[in-house]
Amino acid sequence: MEINLISDTVTKPSPGMLDAMMSADVGDDVFKADPTVNRLEEKVASLFNREAALYFPSGTMTNQTAIKLHTKPGDQLICDKYAHVYNYEGGGVSFNSGVSCKLIDGHRGMMTANQVEDAINPPDFYHSPLTSLVCAENTTNKGGGACWNFSELVRIKAVCQKYGLAYHLDGARIWNALIEKGETAKQYGELFDTISVCLSKGLGCPVGSVLVGDKELINNALRIRKILGGGMRQAGFMAAAGIYALDNQMDRLADDHKKAREIGALLESLPFIKKVEPLETNIIIFEINEDYLSVDDFILKLHKKDIYIIGMGNSKLRIVTHMDYTDQMHEIFLKTLRTL
Ligand SMILES: *Cc1c(COP(=O)(O)O)cnc(C)c1O
Repeated sequence: MEINLISDTVTKPSPGMLDAMMSADVGDDVFKADPTVNRLEEKVASLFNREAALYFPSGTMTNQTAIKLHTKPGDQLICDKYAHVYNYEGGGVSFNSGVSCKLIDGHRGMMTANQVEDAINPPDFYHSPLTSLVCAENTTNKGGGACWNFSELVRIKAVCQKYGLAYHLDGARIWNALIEKGETAKQYGELFDTISVCLSKGLGCPVGSVLVGDKELINNALRIRKILGGGMRQAGFMAAAGIYALDNQMDRLADDHKKAREIGALLESLPFIKKVEPLETNIIIFEINEDYLSVDDFILKLHKKDIYIIGMGNSKLRIVTHMDYTDQMHEIFLKTLRTL
């Protein structure tokens, strides 16, 4: 039995999801005439208590569209040094928007309001780029699934208001944070100008992301999505998966978090593990003591048992739990680790 712990994006549609997809009512979404896409957009907008939402093929495209919405070429955005928008979107910030990033040396991908305020370039000092946007990420990907303290996000909002900056949330894994912290989507909707969410991570859809905001912003986002080549036709087949996931596959994220904590606790007790980073949701980042075992040997030993995880460089490794990682696989994996 293959056990794939590389990412929460390796999941396949569940039987219920496939049924929902196959029976979806569809139309041409480029003419805004796909009823299922429209329904998904209304659903996500209302979840966050915002006026409008727009369906996208990927999280990268939602983030890139948001950045384009809030900036002009030459501007600068502020984000943590671990941010997905900076590290893993192919340099799109500069390619698509002509914008640079001021990186904050935060903690596990999270910044403080003081750090953000210190990073703002004085608006009248025309030699430096104009700061126009702050991007936060929750949960943090490179930060090991860390969840923000909501009050810090509120303090950053106050800084954005004081200096007239836009505020975007990369909420690819916001669902994990909501479940773990008992927060609501509405709280986040109130705080940010735009939020991007992924349906293809923990929620288990094959594809899809959504951007939420007010009507005017989302109208402009429609044009940018077109320019980026993100217009889709009978996308309702995919949007149906999103609706199904939001209704049926959200609460189960708690199980991914529980399994991750059990893996983390076991790793802590193993002699060849040097350090396990604090663990809050479904991402486990840990370090091997290479005096005992090299990273490559560890990965290879697991491969031989049909278990797959990935290295992150610097003796670090990552495990991500997800809905296709079953109780039975969990038992096998824990047993394998104990006897490695
Ligand atoms: C996965 C991810 C994205 C981008 O999503 P894609 O669908 O892979 O383009 C953006 N931000 C974070 C934090 C992510 O984990």
